[in-house]
Amino acid sequence: MKLANINGRPSIVRDGLALDVAAVSKGAIEPDLHVLSDLSRHGELRALADSAAEEDWQDFDFRDLGRVSRPYKAIGVALNYRAHAEESDLPIPDEPSVFAKFASSVIGPSDTVVVPLAFDKVDYEAEVVVVMGAIGKNIREEDAWSYVAGITAGQDISDRREQWRKPLNQFTLPKSYDTFSPIGPFLVTLDEFENRNDIEVVGHVDDLEVQRGRTSDLIFSIPELIVWLSRRVTFEPGDLIFTGTPAGCGVRRTPRLYLRDGMVLRTSVSGVGSMANPIVAG
Ligand code: ZN
Repeated sequence: MKLANINGRPSIVRDGLALDVAAVSKGAIEPDLHVLSDLSRHGELRALADSAAEEDWQDFDFRDLGRVSRPYKAIGVALNYRAHAEESDLPIPDEPSVFAKFASSVIGPSDTVVVPLAFDKVDYEAEVVVVMGAIGKNIREEDAWSYVAGITAGQDISDRREQWRKPLNQFTLPKSYDTFSPIGPFLVTLDEFENRNDIEVVGHVDDLEVQRGRTSDLIFSIPELIVWLSRRVTFEPGDLIFTGTPAGCGVRRTPRLYLRDGMVLRTSVSGVGSMANPIVAG
């Protein structure tokens, strides 16, 4: 299933048309976005989609798509692609290095990313994002995928000046400014992926391709991340894991490429689709 937030209403998307699950179920499914990431409700959603009439499926506009989750927590993984660790001149880690992204920074796939005026080192990070679908603690590796509601695309936008301001590096705030975590356009369930261990992510700034990677190149796989994290925190439906960014961030390019007013940031994940977030200085 391809799940969407359309004008704030939980929806299923098929062949470019959308089903408003609350309206079509006549209220049996509440108009609460949480249903999208709650694996225990996916059976109901599938049954509704299979029984819906042709006229229940409606056109929608890309700009009406909102964030597919309002998470309790969003966790980012630093240095999870080999090439990105190498370009950063850092050793391949033995264990994940993670940080938090505030839930309040999460926006939708066509929403505007606001770069604060005069902030001149704001960078992009295209990522595959895991949306958790069940409560879980101390999850075993062989069970890890069964806690996942689906996959979406994301950007882990980062203020490099604040991230590396002396004397201490800190990741959470500079990756959590308002609008710094676009996700979308859809939450796609795992059965839709040919190979859930080999998902491609591509990032463009305007028409320039800047990043391309595959999750088969991750240093810590998605199940390994879920195991490691769930020894420390309890996952809840809707929680997000930004699984890391491939090589090609703006700070590693010559000349450097930072986000500026008027640019459009495009992020594509295979099997999910593409986001297009305009950048505005404000
Ligand atoms: Zn990141």
